[in-house]
Amino acid sequence: MGLADLHIHSIYSYDGTAPVAAVLNRAWEVGLNVIAITDHDEIKGSLKAFDLAPHFGVEVIPGIEITTAEGDLLALFVTEKIEPNLSLIETILKVGEAGGICIAPHPMARGMGMKSLSRASIRNATKHSDASRILLAIETYNATALDRDSNTHAQALAAEHPNLTQVGNSDAHILQTIGLGATEFRGYTAANLLDALWIGATEVHRGTQLGSARILGSWALNYVLSAPARAAVVDG
Ligand SMILES: [Zn+2]
Repeated sequence: MGLADLHIHSIYSYDGTAPVAAVLNRAWEVGLNVIAITDHDEIKGSLKAFDLAPHFGVEVIPGIEITTAEGDLLALFVTEKIEPNLSLIETILKVGEAGGICIAPHPMARGMGMKSLSRASIRNATKHSDASRILLAIETYNATALDRDSNTHAQALAAEHPNLTQVGNSDAHILQTIGLGATEFRGYTAANLLDALWIGATEVHRGTQLGSARILGSWALNYVLSAPARAAVVDG
């Protein structure tokens, strides 16, 4: 079985702290086969990871976390930025045009400036004949969600939508939390993973769930320490 973490932030995210090469190295160390760097409305870090991946023994799926008008949305297998602040269905259709697929991350979760898709938004998308073929999965385990009830809510929502494949992710904003949430699938490659997402053949892998105070504390420290590096990639 392969292990994937499809929701990781790098220093190219306004709130990320980890350089791309360090993310790849950490992913290899913790035994991940496939990862996606999904920075907020930014694709540069993800494309850099894709280029560097062969040196690290990890396969990278290019991706992005898009700010839609209705909440955050993960897009995988895309190599371009998708316009933010569009409706959920418009965004999903644009991802489809770009050749990608979507995952609803941390549905209904609240927290520090975080906007998550509501139950109604997800239901609408699953009823839309075209969008429902692109929105394949729902994140039922987010290892670093500050809203401690959000994973329970996400599982209940997934039960209402059996056609959405369940995935686990870290949503890591620091190196230490990469892989704490992951998705198991048959095979080891990104192509195998995509097959599993299509047919709902995944297993959600729940690692240690750290307390929200610890997550926030570690992030704050790393955020301060990584400020010069973050400024450099924004300028560059
Ligand atoms: Zn995220």
